[in-house]
Order: sequence, then C-alpha cells, then structure tokens
Amino acid sequence: MTKRDYYEVLGISKSASADEIKKAYRNMALKFHPDRVAPDKKKEAEEKFKEISESYEVLMDPQKKATYDQYGHAGVDSSFRPGGFDMGQDFHHYEDLKDIFGGFDISELLRGFGLGSNMFSDSFEEDQERGYGHRRGGDLEFQLGITFEEAAFGAEKTISIPRHETCAVCGGTGARPGSKSERCPDCGGRGKVNSSSGFFNIIRTCQRCGGTGQVIKTPCTACNGTGRVRTKRNIKVKIPAGVDTGSRLRIHGEGSSGEKGARPGDLYLHLEVKPHEIFERHDSDIYCEVPINFVIAALSGEVEVPTLEGKIMMKIPAGTQSGRVLRLRGKGIADLHGHARGDQLVRVQVEVPDNLSPEQKRLLKEFAKASEKNAGPLSKSFMEKMRRMFR
Ligand SMILES: [Zn+2]
Ligand SMILES: [Zn+2]
Repeated sequence: MTKRDYYEVLGISKSASADEIKKAYRNMALKFHPDRVAPDKKKEAEEKFKEISESYEVLMDPQKKATYDQYGHAGVDSSFRPGGFDMGQDFHHYEDLKDIFGGFDISELLRGFGLGSNMFSDSFEEDQERGYGHRRGGDLEFQLGITFEEAAFGAEKTISIPRHETCAVCGGTGARPGSKSERCPDCGGRGKVNSSSGFFNIIRTCQRCGGTGQVIKTPCTACNGTGRVRTKRNIKVKIPAGVDTGSRLRIHGEGSSGEKGARPGDLYLHLEVKPHEIFERHDSDIYCEVPINFVIAALSGEVEVPTLEGKIMMKIPAGTQSGRVLRLRGKGIADLHGHARGDQLVRVQVEVPDNLSPEQKRLLKEFAKASEKNAGPLSKSFMEKMRRMFR
C-alpha cells in the first residue's frame, strides 16, 4: 500500500505553520474519534486515526519534518518499525491527544489501538489510591476440627494461626528504626516513571519503589525491609452452639495484615466436627444405641443412658422389644438459628445372655416350661402368618 502524503492526510499545505499543523490534527482527530462515528465505521476510523497520528507525529517534529520534506517517506520510515507505524511504540503526542479530547474518555480510543488505559497517568492515580502501595491484606482460610460436644454447645477456643503481620520493630515502614527512607532516585519521589523509549509517552509505576516514591536506605532487620513478618498468632474464636461440619466462621480482620498499614484481610474457619464414639447426629437430633437386659425388657426397669450432659436413668417400659426407639426430649443439639433444641433418640438392643451358669440354665428351663402356652406378641403374629402360608 502506498502511503499518502502527510500534508495531504492532514489537509494542509507544505507551508503550514506549527500552529496550523496542530489545528489540522486536532480537527482530524476529533472527526475520527471512534466514539463519534457509526459502529460499522469504527474500524475505518481507527485506521484513519493511525494515519493522521503518524502524519502529525512527523510534521510536529521540526527535524523529522525537514527530513520528510527532503526525502519523503523514505527519509522518516526508519524511525518507525518495518511495515509501518506501531501505536504502542511510536506514539509521542499523548499529551496533545489528552488536550484535544479533554472532555472525552480517550481510554476507549486507546484500547482501540491495543493500549490499556492503565498505562497512562490519568488512571494511574486511581490505581494508586485503590491499591498499589497499600494493598488490603489477604484472607486466610483454615480447617478447624472440633469435638461433637463443642459443636453441640458452642465453645471458645484459642487457635494458633500462621500469618503475615505488620512488623512491630519498624511499625510496617520497612526501615530500620532511627533510619529514614529516602526519595526514590529512579522516579524522584513521584512513584512513576516516563518511559520515553518509544513514540508514546508511557507512564509506569516505578519498579524500584513500587510506586511509593520512597526507598529504604537501611532496611529493618526483623522484616528484611518488607514491613511484614510471618508469625503465629493466637486468636480467640467463639464457636456458636449448633454448628456442623461444613459450617464456616468469618473472623473479621484476622487475616493477613495489609501492606504499609492497609486494612487486614479476614480469617475464614471451615469447621469439621469429629465423629463421636456413641452419638450420631441427624440435624439437631442425636441417635445412640443402648443394650438392655432381657429381664428388664420384659419386666420394665431403669437403665443408665449417656447424654451430652452426663449420665441419666431412662425408664424402660415392660415388654420392650429390641429395636424400639425411645425419645429423650430436648437432649439433642442446640439449633443454630434459635429454634428449639433437638431430641436424643435411644434405640434399645435387648441382649441375650451367654455364658450362663448351671443355676441360670435351670431357672430358664423352668421359665420355658411355664411359658409353653404363653408366646410373645411377635411370635403370635408370626405363627399366624406361617399358618396362612401353609394352609
Ligand atoms: Zn520491620
Ligand atoms: Zn521510585
């Protein structure tokens, strides 16, 4: 593609003054602002914009202009990349552009050229305020194992959490106490540097000081100048009654400390309730199995039963069959949302004795003789079913 004459592109004569060149550029730039053209013309406008930018870039520079006047495109092309103009590398007149589009959002325009607007000073200031230099501390997440009882009744635990904390020796400045931080020599304290290597006047965060504008001459030995130290911190945690495996506790402000005094992150504890040897949990009810003596099952009586609050005596009604579930009201787990406390459900297992003594055997045989015509309720019902089956 043959390049158009730069004067022709801007619609000016070769004798145009610097002011006239700038004015022409201004008019053209406004005309081809991608926001001011129809969407289907956007691509075309961008191409056009590149063309006028390149023209202005050469004609605004007296030396380049003289070379161009004498040798044409061949004279100035060496200052551009082979194959043409690179907006990222070869863009010097950002300030002019800002001037022209003062009232417009030029970030969109620049994105059209593959240039992130965050490279420029306008948005850089915002980035400074929002984040860099005083970033919020990170959130921490830990798994916390608790006992069945702690989940049921709640608990206060002291846990040890490894995390970054503000260095107590230097107060987070990173400078050794007594020493002073100095103005960053790379950016002169501005926190940003102009990289004038290319065509564009690109402003970046200073690498050396990280945008703070200050460098530490004598770093704090406790934190190696970072202002933060890795420590283990003991934190008192209140676990509410009724939590379960999968419950998550958020402890405000107990995450890692932020950089240079920024607010800390939060601590998240993921609870895991350890299984209990006797109890099993079903929401706010708890289940357990209790073996009972077959004589008590037959004659009634009391057996000792464990609850979360200690042992109690539970009444067994006469004729209790194995597998029957007895309910102890309000002996379950507290409800996290403030509803009534759950129940404890006790499943009884009637135990058949083994290792009988001769005396016990004799008594049981006597009992059997007396029971010949007195079958239990389960047997009676079962015998009836059998009779129907083999009739
Ligand atoms: Zn320190
Ligand atoms: Zn710096």
